Formats: sequence, structure tokens, C-alpha cells
Amino acid sequence: MRFHKAELFFVLLIGLVGVGGAFAWAAFSAISGGIIVGGPEAAAEFAFMSAVLAALAVICALTLVLPIMSSGLRERGQLKRMTESLSVRSQSLEHAAITDSLTSMYNRRYFDEALSEYLAAFRPIGKPIGMVILDLDHFKAVNDTHGHDVGDEVLRQVAECLHVFTRYHDVLARLGGEEFAILSPNITERQLHNLANRIREAVSQLTVTSGNVTLRVTISAGIAIWDGKESGEELYRRADKQLYEAKRQGRNRVCAA
Ligand code: GH3
Ligand code: MG
Ligand code: MG
Repeated sequence: MRFHKAELFFVLLIGLVGVGGAFAWAAFSAISGGIIVGGPEAAAEFAFMSAVLAALAVICALTLVLPIMSSGLRERGQLKRMTESLSVRSQSLEHAAITDSLTSMYNRRYFDEALSEYLAAFRPIGKPIGMVILDLDHFKAVNDTHGHDVGDEVLRQVAECLHVFTRYHDVLARLGGEEFAILSPNITERQLHNLANRIREAVSQLTVTSGNVTLRVTISAGIAIWDGKESGEELYRRADKQLYEAKRQGRNRVCAA
């Protein structure tokens, strides 16, 4: 069994106090005629020994036990601060793992997880779920003409615009590049079409300003309502197919599966 230094010093301190106390008792006994006899000289010797041991106990407490205790307290404080900062860090890492840093929207990873959770929850109750996939039109030309920074600003402002139209239970995500998606539970095809169309119109009316550049962009969208049986991947593929149909038909439009 191993003892910590502080424990050994503490035992030493208790020992010194104990033996000192025994000498003090002996001194008292020598003058009051108790078990130990010997008169005032013996009492003075015992009292002296007791005083020496008490002084040693004080020195031991101040030089050995106290520094160890205070450094232990300091270490504990440091550990507490470290644990707190690690827990804040792990929360922010968790947040970063599911968030797109440019737009602060959820990323594809979160979207895929939310999609499979929604489908699992809605399968037994037979409620509808709608998916909208949106893609900026000719976005490469925006980057090529005005630069990547302006392109980034366009993405941020379009993302803000999408936020305005989504409800509390909708999941809005940037799937990557200039492609966004909305997962909207409890919605009919007509309502989903209206939602996608209102977003399309709002984006087309957006005036994006970045530095001395002002420009307008449009967005195309494909929508699909979950058939109650298909997988998330199949639902996504159906909506994505409609997005390509919207592109094929000339862009700045919504197509439904
Ligand atoms: P379409 O109408 O067919 O969708 O044409 P498009 O030009 O929008 O599509 P394309 O796939 O040809 O180009 C997408 C561009 O998006 C190319 C890429 O440089 C740009 N892009 C992807 N991610 C980012 C980003 O984070 N920031 C910026 N500024 N551009 C991005
Ligand atoms: Mg595009
Ligand atoms: Mg694209």
C-alpha cells in the first residue's frame, strides 16, 4: 500500500501533537501528584518537551502539510477550469460537426440523420414529409465574374433568405456547394410547391451587395413528397431528379415529382 506524502506528513503531525500532549499530561501529573510523580523539576522537563514537540508540530504543519494542501487545492482548481473548458470545447466541436461554417446552416451530415429519424418516426403514423432541393443557377459564373468572396456572400444571403421561409419543424441544410435542402414534415404537395415557389421568388428579388458589386441570382428547385415506403436516399433522388428537370426547362423554376 502506498501513501501520499501529505498523508505521511499528516500522520507525523498527529504523532507530534499526540506525544506533545502526553508530555503535557505528564507535566500536569508530576505536579498534581497523579500517576507520574517527580515534583516541579520533572514537570518542568515534561513541559519543556511538550513545548518543543508543539513547536515541531507547528513547523511541520507550516512547512510540510500546508504547502501540500494549498498546492492540492490549486491543482484541483486548475483541473476544474480545464474540465470546464474541455466541455465547452467538445460542445463547440459537436456544433461544428453538424454545421456549415459559411452559412451557419446544418450540413449534409445533420440533414441525412434528421431525414432518417423523420422517416422512422413518420412511417408508423403515415404522415407526409416533403423535400425541397434547391440549387443556385449559373453560380459558377458569379464566382468567375466577381470572385469567390462575392460568391460566398451570395451563399450567405441566400441562406438567410431560406431561413425566413422555414417553420420550426423544418430542417434546412446546405448540402454542399450551392445546393440547399429543406425537409418539411406534415405538408401537402400543394403547400410544398407553394413554399418552394415563394422561396424561388424571394431569391430572385434579392439584391446581393458585396463591396461595390451588386447582383441578382436565381434558384431552381425540385420537390417530392415521401411515398411512405421509400428510403431517404430514394426520396432525395426523386427530388433531385426534379431539380435537374427545373434546370433543363430553363432554371428559376420549381418542378414536382
Ligand atoms: P447550374 O445552373 O447548372 O447549377 O450551374 P452552376 O454554375 O450553378 O453549377 P456548377 O456545378 O457548374 O458550379 C457550381 C459552382 O459553385 C462551382 C463552384 O466553384 C461553386 N462553389 C461551390 N462551393 C462554393 C463555395 O463555398 N463558395 C463559393 N464562392 N463558390 C462555391
Ligand atoms: Mg448551380
Ligand atoms: Mg450544384
